[in-house]
Amino acid sequence: MADLLASIASSNAAPAAPIATTHRMGLSEEEAAFLLQEATAFAAGHGMLVQAPEQRYAHLPYCLLPVAFPKTQFEKGVALGPLFGTLVDRISEDPDWLHAQLESVLAEDPFTRRLVELSKLVQANGRAQPASLGIFRSDYMLHDDPSDEHAAKILQVELNTISASFACMSSLASELHHYLLSRFEADMPSLARYYGTTITSLASHLPANPALKALPDALAKAHAHYGRPSAVVLFVVQPNESNSVDQRWLEYTLWTEHKIKVLRRTLLDMHRATQDATTKALWVDGKYEVAVAYFRAGYTPTDYPSEHEWSGRTNIETSLAIKCPNVTYHLAGTKKVQQVLASPAQLRRFMSENESRVLEACFTGLYGLEKQSPDLAASVIESIAPGAHHQCHSIKAAVRANPQGYVLKPQREGGGNNFYGQEVVDQMDKMTPEELESYILMDRIVPQETPAILVRNAQAVAGATISELGMYSVSLFVHGKAIVNEHAGHLLRTKLSSTNEGGVAAGFAVLSSPFLV
Ligand code: ADP
Ligand code: MG
Ligand code: MG
Repeated sequence: MADLLASIASSNAAPAAPIATTHRMGLSEEEAAFLLQEATAFAAGHGMLVQAPEQRYAHLPYCLLPVAFPKTQFEKGVALGPLFGTLVDRISEDPDWLHAQLESVLAEDPFTRRLVELSKLVQANGRAQPASLGIFRSDYMLHDDPSDEHAAKILQVELNTISASFACMSSLASELHHYLLSRFEADMPSLARYYGTTITSLASHLPANPALKALPDALAKAHAHYGRPSAVVLFVVQPNESNSVDQRWLEYTLWTEHKIKVLRRTLLDMHRATQDATTKALWVDGKYEVAVAYFRAGYTPTDYPSEHEWSGRTNIETSLAIKCPNVTYHLAGTKKVQQVLASPAQLRRFMSENESRVLEACFTGLYGLEKQSPDLAASVIESIAPGAHHQCHSIKAAVRANPQGYVLKPQREGGGNNFYGQEVVDQMDKMTPEELESYILMDRIVPQETPAILVRNAQAVAGATISELGMYSVSLFVHGKAIVNEHAGHLLRTKLSSTNEGGVAAGFAVLSSPFLV
């Protein structure tokens, strides 16, 4: 332990670069440096950590202070969570529809094809387990509308239905910011000025973040529903997970709060798991019955280097264990399904008129890239660039006219897969029509920039930033009926606006939290 602390200390020995006045927003350089020291100590002391190679741990990169965020928009995000929970469950009750929507991406996307095959297999066998557990995170960016006096509204980036991570780390980031504001507000008047306000009780502007408790509670409810107190919760993990501490917090909380045992196993390990021939109960090492299988792996093709991992996944999916998520929930979270649901008629297949309107208020333009009929193509172009389809003979032409307005996305998770700006044009020119069908096109959301101080390896990097708000929700549905379906905390990721992508683990963004105004 002393070695660990010594090595982390030595790697942080370089002096911090000075932070420009404009990015300090009224804090003096000394105050910023002091807060940075306090915050890094808090992060270490409270386990806001990431696993570095060779079993070493470092603090997760974080935003020094919470970022101003409109309260009404945050509350909208809270209300949207359960609606997405209902939507995903209703889609999973209609697997033929789901599989049909994904048909066009399958030719050039062997990974999604495999998942659809698995989903069809589960359907053909008859689901062994009628209960479905969801731990979702719907991600939004605050779109800045210059035509409406810079009115800002949240627009959905995507819905994550598998392996939505950082819930525990995000609760810790909220605690960190709560501590800094409440502890130092009286000593440091410039903290209030940082938010351009003279109000007191700064910490009261930070919304409660129950994620660290709400996720284990949901896993425990599913465990109770399964009905065998001695059964375990299985965490399906990647062999080299760097975000393991985030998962460990769930594991420890399940033990201390619920006395439920967690086992960590890889998909490869699960290849050797067994199923009871009659009940389909899933057993690990021949002695642990699995009540709930929680996936923190399996969302990306590289999680399946051989057939063994697919057999591990199949073992779980066809079993009696309650899956979080099951493969239909997983597929309901694909970008293709998000794009299809942006069509009003498709959304209303699952949701009432009122529910649909609430959901649609956070949708941005989403476009399929099927080899469509000329009529359909014209209507898509009309929606991309109203009145422009006389000049634009194809989606490609519409995109070429404004490359900065779009993001091109494949059916992938985990960040780093999208194309932006000129890349969109280049990729669309390069790809065959079949390849293009496996992607979707989305309007680029343009948030307003905020100056902020980001801290990585105890070093500050300051600049203009943009943020992405993630809203967790948890659900437990049985035969279409909700036993649990509620908001479960939030995540704010802040990144320098010069970077496109938003994954914290990928090294582009930092943990942050909203200061509601
Ligand atoms: P993934 O499932 O890989 O996380 P996302 O859809 O979340 O895929 O895209 C990754 C990142 O790309 C997001 O976190 C965000 O920073 C950026 N991004 C995605 N879609 C948009 C968009 N429509 N407008 C602006 N940025 C986007
Ligand atoms: Mg995702
Ligand atoms: Mg994402």
